[in-house]
Amino acid sequence: MFDNLTELLQNSFKVLQGKNKLSESNVKEAIRKVRRALLEADVALEVIKVFLDKVQIKALGLKVGQGLTPSQTFIKLVETELTKIIGGKVESLDLKTQPPAIIMVAGLQGAGKTTSVAKIAFYLKQRENKKVLVVSADVYRPAAIEQLEVLSKQIEVDFFPSTINDKPSDIVANAKRYAQKQFFDVLLVDTAGRLHIDEQMMNEIKILQKKVDPIETLFVIDSMTGQDAVHTAKVFSNALPLTGVILTKTDGDARGGAALSVRHIIGKPIKFLGVGEKIDALELFHPERVVSRLLG
Ligand code: GDP
Repeated sequence: MFDNLTELLQNSFKVLQGKNKLSESNVKEAIRKVRRALLEADVALEVIKVFLDKVQIKALGLKVGQGLTPSQTFIKLVETELTKIIGGKVESLDLKTQPPAIIMVAGLQGAGKTTSVAKIAFYLKQRENKKVLVVSADVYRPAAIEQLEVLSKQIEVDFFPSTINDKPSDIVANAKRYAQKQFFDVLLVDTAGRLHIDEQMMNEIKILQKKVDPIETLFVIDSMTGQDAVHTAKVFSNALPLTGVILTKTDGDARGGAALSVRHIIGKPIKFLGVGEKIDALELFHPERVVSRLLG
């Protein structure tokens, strides 16, 4: 997803090649180029500004590192600051609570919620040896409930049945009771999304979230939707106490910069990346690795 940005950034660093020091003028020129690269990659303006202001302040007065060229020193600074702005460290799921730890996912229709619920269920089962139950509180689309049932069979994870005639909060309360009785470690809750943000959906999910009181409320963002993804994340984040973000479809060829802006804009960590349609195509988000991949 970041191929284009990688190329753009590499080009911006070229202005420092062969220079024997980091002067005010060559740093400014490099920063101008980086700004253009980030804009072209669809990184949100306010994020670019905060990021480059920091880079500029630190770069002027920066001593060229031992064994490094001025260009490499500057790239290292960009790497450090970019890592900070997209998250700093790895933030995994917080499951430290009386079981079952409830994880609820929210997002627009088509963002990848149901797929992500199944991927996380599989991840927790395989990697962390957790006993996982999944439930769908999407009472608007019978197909969504069926989709989760099919996926849960595929990954051999227990599925708590629900129907479109049930109330979402009752579905989750019943699933929780069942999970407690059967000693499940984790209960994953899929929720209804719409094609666009609408007030009714936001109100419903707010009420549901309050009642369910999950330890993790994850917002699922389709990284292919660019700045729209950032906008949607903002709206959901204002309405719900989100604990993290899942960026889906990062295997696509979208410009990707918008998605990288989310952490700074809503102040919540990206926890997972969806990297394909398959059930095991989920990665923990490693800011450092993403940045070093991005810088090529
Ligand atoms: P929901 O409406 O939010 O529950 O979205 P779905 O889980 O049904 O996903 C919508 C579509 O996106 C499906 O075709 C998924 O296979 C696809 N999808 C979800 N996550 C990813 C991902 O990380 N990469 C790719 N390539 N496709 C994904």
